[in-house]
Amino acid sequence: MYPLRHLAAWVCRACGTQYAPSSAPPAACPICLDEREYVPPVGQAWTSLDELRGAGQGYEIRELEPGLTGLRCLPQLGIGPVGYLVQTPAGNLLWDCPSLVDDGIIAELRARGGLVAISASHPHFYGAMADWSAAFSGAPILLPEADQAWVMRPDAAVRFWQDSAELLPGLVAVRCGGHFDGSSVLHWPAGAGGRGALFTGDTIMVVPDRRFVSFMRSYPNLIPLPAEAVVGIAAAVEPLRFDRIYGNPGWEKVVAAGAKESVARSADRYRERLR
Ligand SMILES: [Zn+2]
Ligand SMILES: [Zn+2]
Repeated sequence: MYPLRHLAAWVCRACGTQYAPSSAPPAACPICLDEREYVPPVGQAWTSLDELRGAGQGYEIRELEPGLTGLRCLPQLGIGPVGYLVQTPAGNLLWDCPSLVDDGIIAELRARGGLVAISASHPHFYGAMADWSAAFSGAPILLPEADQAWVMRPDAAVRFWQDSAELLPGLVAVRCGGHFDGSSVLHWPAGAGGRGALFTGDTIMVVPDRRFVSFMRSYPNLIPLPAEAVVGIAAAVEPLRFDRIYGNPGWEKVVAAGAKESVARSADRYRERLR
């Protein structure tokens, strides 16, 4: 007989994806088995909320600009996304979801007005989205339908949209494809002092040379995209007014100014190099 165990929503240590509750960890992590990620050489490892609480897992919080707070697990958990809390008169949206929800971070968000909607650029940053929703009165989790198959912890709060959607008044998500079929960006017109900001996850990757960005099917495994996919991403964001990009994973993934030109220049360079 196995001892009775609590059901746990297991979290993959490598990618940070949370799974539907079960008594034992999943046999494998489809997100890590996919060619865009990888199973670490030491093998797949799992953790749970109970274990993380006991291990002193916490958060680093940064005020990034008026109306925007970043939350990132410290020490790093999974791929290590910054959760972007975008504050609007209609309530706050969390874009890209860290993998730990506990009393401490819930109190921090409550102090900033809570949460009324949740979304993410793509499945690598779905994290603990169901726990985030549960902690804030079942806030809707709004995702592109194209990535429905990658939702590893189905939840009643998940709702799907198609090519674009206004997630909150003034905050529009646009599906660009590329890295994932549903890879998307969030447009925040009030960001960057009113010049507009774009949250891009891995859909548009911030690189060390800020005059450029990049677009890949896989970043860790360096799998390129076809030129037409890159042209499609650039075309999807072209109508949007923005000067700044907040990407992921990590605090440093920011193009502070001139981001729109960086995207157009990079798509041109990509096409040129593939000719
Ligand atoms: Zn994984
Ligand atoms: Zn990714």
